[in-house]
Amino acid sequence: MLLRKLLAGTALFIAIVFAFLEIGSRYYKCPVTDWHHQDVLVCDTNYYPVNQNRIYAVQSIIKQKQQNMEPSREDIDQAVNLTKYEDMPGLNGIVCEDGMIFVRDNLSSEGKYFVARHELEHVFIGNGLNKDCVKEEYCATMSAVKNYPLGFVETVLSSLYISSQEAPTVWCFIFSSWNIFRVYVLGW
Ligand SMILES: [Zn+2]
Repeated sequence: MLLRKLLAGTALFIAIVFAFLEIGSRYYKCPVTDWHHQDVLVCDTNYYPVNQNRIYAVQSIIKQKQQNMEPSREDIDQAVNLTKYEDMPGLNGIVCEDGMIFVRDNLSSEGKYFVARHELEHVFIGNGLNKDCVKEEYCATMSAVKNYPLGFVETVLSSLYISSQEAPTVWCFIFSSWNIFRVYVLGW
């Protein structure tokens, strides 16, 4: 009897927290909607010219994936550019239009592989692989989690830490974190 009450209480508590986060993130207007004032320089070829070796490495990973082969860590090292966070503010990783992939260098080693694998999944989807995918960010995160679960945890913690430092208010932090969580992890 007590256990049933406890479970019902816990379920109610979780439902209230969910509702609060959902409603709050829809209606709360962060006073500074874009708190990353700096530009994303990594996709500007004046600052980061295209490196053909990296592009070839990405293409060979795509060819492997077409044979259902998962890229190794060495393959990923060849394909991905590590760069400073200041040149890609607010981001963990990005695939530029020219095909160059960037990952911020202030992540743990596993975190870098997790983010790189997430970005590679975007490349795979863009090349017609993983046709069953409906929500792209969710698919990219899930295929990266499968291969780098520890990197996922470390990336989440690192992102939360950075966001807590940068967010203009605590509510901006809470609701923007929730929005990211729902898109990337829940796939809503
Ligand atoms: Zn993504």
